[in-house]
Amino acid sequence: MTRFHSDEYIDFLFKVTPDTISKHLTEQVKYNFNDDNPVWDGLSEFCSISAGGSMEAAARLNNRKCDIAINWAGGLHHAKKSEANGFCYVNGECLLLRFHPRVLYIDIDVHHGDGVEEAFYTTDRVMTVSFHQYGDFFPGTGDIGDIGVSEGKNHSVNVPLRPGMDDVSYSRVFQRVIKGVMDWYRPDAVVLQCGGDSLSGDRLGSFNLSMRGHANCVNYVKSFNLPTMLVGGGGYTMRNVARTWAFETGVVVGEEVGPDLPYDDFYGVLDNIKKTMTFSPSVQMTDVPRYPLIPALDEEFEDIADDEDEDENKDVRISPRQVDMLIEHEGELSDDEEMSQISNLLNAIKKRNQINHGEVLSTVSTTEAEAAASKTSDDPGADGSANSQDTPMTDAEVIFDDAQAVSP
Ligand SMILES: [Zn+2]
Repeated sequence: MTRFHSDEYIDFLFKVTPDTISKHLTEQVKYNFNDDNPVWDGLSEFCSISAGGSMEAAARLNNRKCDIAINWAGGLHHAKKSEANGFCYVNGECLLLRFHPRVLYIDIDVHHGDGVEEAFYTTDRVMTVSFHQYGDFFPGTGDIGDIGVSEGKNHSVNVPLRPGMDDVSYSRVFQRVIKGVMDWYRPDAVVLQCGGDSLSGDRLGSFNLSMRGHANCVNYVKSFNLPTMLVGGGGYTMRNVARTWAFETGVVVGEEVGPDLPYDDFYGVLDNIKKTMTFSPSVQMTDVPRYPLIPALDEEFEDIADDEDEDENKDVRISPRQVDMLIEHEGELSDDEEMSQISNLLNAIKKRNQINHGEVLSTVSTTEAEAAASKTSDDPGADGSANSQDTPMTDAEVIFDDAQAVSP
């Protein structure tokens, strides 16, 4: 792996774990480990399998043990020399491209093959050709004007495409470009990166290729009869990727894979499952509540309910649901309880001021003031002198006095 990647990057990749990553903040930034490229259990093992598969494939092609080698675990084309990128950690293709004088790398992933292009941007030993969605799309590189520099000038080919490419338009572009490359560059070996995110319905890509349209690229490259390595790549609608790569394996070996699964031992398992299906539960069923038990604690439910409220009560200032939310159990204690106690104290101060100073506040009616006066004079626990006009109570005394009245 260190033939392409830096020693320290590979060292770190093989020693870091999810438990220790937080202790290596400098390396996190340096090697670009983030949400896109997280550290997870088994990461180093995965990288070994991915890169090791490509190395073994290269060895077999070099030894002429096969004409076409496949490593669907490879094709992680965004990884850089000392940097993880776009969920790619180790770049297997870069490891094997050094074995031949002229290697053609073709990339039909929906994303630009930036890691591989960067690795060979300055050399004519490898020509990289990438067909990718372009314009406000990860990784943002792959402009048609990026053609390589120095010795590598004109050895990087970028075919930026708009979303929605279908089988016909894609194959027209693909075959014309690849034919030109084969005629002019005359490679000794080919690596075809078959990223499955260029398929229709992918969760990230916006191309419209069918499984057969995707496999046409494999078929076309195969027709040149050069030592070829097929590698995987991206693909975010799993069933489509699995189906397509299985179909393309068939294309490589000259077999048309039909839609039905061939009979194998697992059919016995399926037969057993069918026997268990009596469609009657052996235990009493309980309805799962449709709504959360405590709606106020479920933010998602609250958001949905708010939307429904707005839709159903366009002309109502406060909906019935919002009114319901204001109803509290008598024994419930909350911040509102404290607010109510504070409010009681403030009212008591106002009333006491009226008694002490004869103030009539706009918020407190005279009747209320009289009632308060009679209440305080009737209060057997109250000190008579304290309530007299001659020796008015201080605010602090009032609060203390009233707090005693409020608290149990
Ligand atoms: Zn991709």
